[in-house]
Amino acid sequence: MNNYSNPLRLNVGYMYNKPIGTSRDVPVEIETLDLEDLLVKDLQSNVRISRTSEGLLLQAEGEAQVQTACVLCLVDFYLPVKFDFEELYQFPSRYREETDLILPYDGYIDLRSLYREYLILAMPIKPICQPDCRGLCAACGANLNETTCEHHPELELLKGITKGAESA
Ligand SMILES: [Zn+2]
Ligand SMILES: [Zn+2]
Repeated sequence: MNNYSNPLRLNVGYMYNKPIGTSRDVPVEIETLDLEDLLVKDLQSNVRISRTSEGLLLQAEGEAQVQTACVLCLVDFYLPVKFDFEELYQFPSRYREETDLILPYDGYIDLRSLYREYLILAMPIKPICQPDCRGLCAACGANLNETTCEHHPELELLKGITKGAESA
């Protein structure tokens, strides 16, 4: 069954009775995804599920575009992010710590919080929309990628040069 409202809810119940060492690759590809405050698109990932003596080991790797704000010009943009993680879901009988991930009886695990956590970890602390982002004018706040202002007459000149090169 495909759960439309949450594509990161995976059925892993069929792995519970598999012999130790069995593994399956599950592709997880989602066009647009809303992870609480995180907007994600073009998610392409693979989750390898392996049966261990304690439970199921999940090894995920993938890439996605994550919406964030540029630290220089403050404009929202989608940042390409690569991520990977490994987490062990334990059988309930092995339950020890509150932080442990426990396999539910119904066989469905929800990977939203793991994906959210590891996507955030994979993002740079200071994301920049483009390598040559010009940021905002410190005096008037104009976005210098889109416009020029009286405080930056040199950009007006630069714009003219770029335009000239384009038309040549
Ligand atoms: Zn920027
Ligand atoms: Zn200005």
